[in-house]
Amino acid sequence: MIQFLPLGGAGEIGSSCFYLNIDGTGIILDCGMHPRKNVQEALPMLEHLNDKDVDFCIISHAHQDHIGALPYLVRKHPYIKLFSTPQTRAIAELTLHNSVSILSDKLKENDLLKPYSHEEIDLLIQSINYKSYNEEFELRGTRSNSPLPVKVSLQDAGHILGSAGILLEHNDHKIFYTGDINMDDQMLTPKAVLPNKKIDTLIIECTYGATDSASLPGWTQEAKKMATDANKILEAGGSVLIPVFSLGKLQEMLTTIWTMMQKGLLIKTDIYTGGIGRKINILHDRNRYVVRRTDKDFELAEIPYKDIYEVDNISLFRRNPSIVLAPSGMVIEGTLSFNLALDWLRQDKFAIFIVGYMDPDTPGYLIASSEKGQKLSLPGLLSPLEIKCSIERYRFSSHAKRDGLLEIVKRLRPEKVILVHGDEPSIDWMGYNILEKNPGIKVYAAETGHKIEL
Ligand SMILES: [Zn+2]
Repeated sequence: MIQFLPLGGAGEIGSSCFYLNIDGTGIILDCGMHPRKNVQEALPMLEHLNDKDVDFCIISHAHQDHIGALPYLVRKHPYIKLFSTPQTRAIAELTLHNSVSILSDKLKENDLLKPYSHEEIDLLIQSINYKSYNEEFELRGTRSNSPLPVKVSLQDAGHILGSAGILLEHNDHKIFYTGDINMDDQMLTPKAVLPNKKIDTLIIECTYGATDSASLPGWTQEAKKMATDANKILEAGGSVLIPVFSLGKLQEMLTTIWTMMQKGLLIKTDIYTGGIGRKINILHDRNRYVVRRTDKDFELAEIPYKDIYEVDNISLFRRNPSIVLAPSGMVIEGTLSFNLALDWLRQDKFAIFIVGYMDPDTPGYLIASSEKGQKLSLPGLLSPLEIKCSIERYRFSSHAKRDGLLEIVKRLRPEKVILVHGDEPSIDWMGYNILEKNPGIKVYAAETGHKIEL
């Protein structure tokens, strides 16, 4: 008997965490933390595991909304065995240590939840068993009631360094969880490799279910448009701010900007970035012969970027037109991109380029939905601010377009599809279109806390 129970990230993009019980073997797929909510509400519903067999946890990739709550899962279930790709393990070591101080600041003295420590993270990272792409391994829980193990392998998901779809096979039933998946090439990261076999149950992300695929152009086409716009700003003496996630988007955008400069399409100017992204760049370079890359010989270390954290006075950007890639990607209050945006918004020659997904409750979303000349209220500001800089939007996606998601269903020919990781309109569009194109298929919209028997 197979049961599927979403603990988070079902009808939303947030704390992805899914529990599978396969004939008594308990496997958790991802254990994320919502990037925006306060910590207590940002965790998946781990209390649903109290009366369950919990043996293993497999992490699809190292974005916070897929791994951020792992220390709490391990604290609650210390004997759980963890698995990921070696790249995800290496990135998690950086990002989870980095989040220790952030969490300590967020959590108050009287909060029930205690922040985790660097020692806990060290132990957790050491205990992650790492498996290369396509390397098959077997799992069998302590209370398994089947003579057969669950066979597992990780498939390159083309989303960020180390990202994987998870293929599980038991007793002739094949389950594939896409994690976050991309069916198109990015600048550094080539598109996903799908399992080469028919799947019985597909658990699929739906990020772009509500977005017309025609509005998501190819990466290079969008890069050229961005370069043309950036040239106008730089020529007029302005600087460009691009809010980015340190993991994934920073490396892809840095490479995109550098490539455009090398091709003569973008004015050669100073590029600023830094923070934890710098260490993640090194991991990208170290892994370039180990994992698939669009160009194995290219190294991020070739790009002569300057450290944004070493800039003493941001008036530098008024004297010296530059391109600044700053975390956080969603311009969360108190982060570098938020602080820089407060200055940028007041400069009429400057521009903010929006290049990624914005959660509707973030300052990044407010900025992305505004125009020059409008008034904007942001957290911490006493009165609305008149926007003087330009705001431009681009679609550089590390997630599959909805046509790509339908292509996955077509190629894997599942009998059952479970829709996760999308807002309501995205889940609705995907459900309707999968049913229409695949007569006889069963489609479930996953709901947190609601069990599905497979
Ligand atoms: Zn992701």
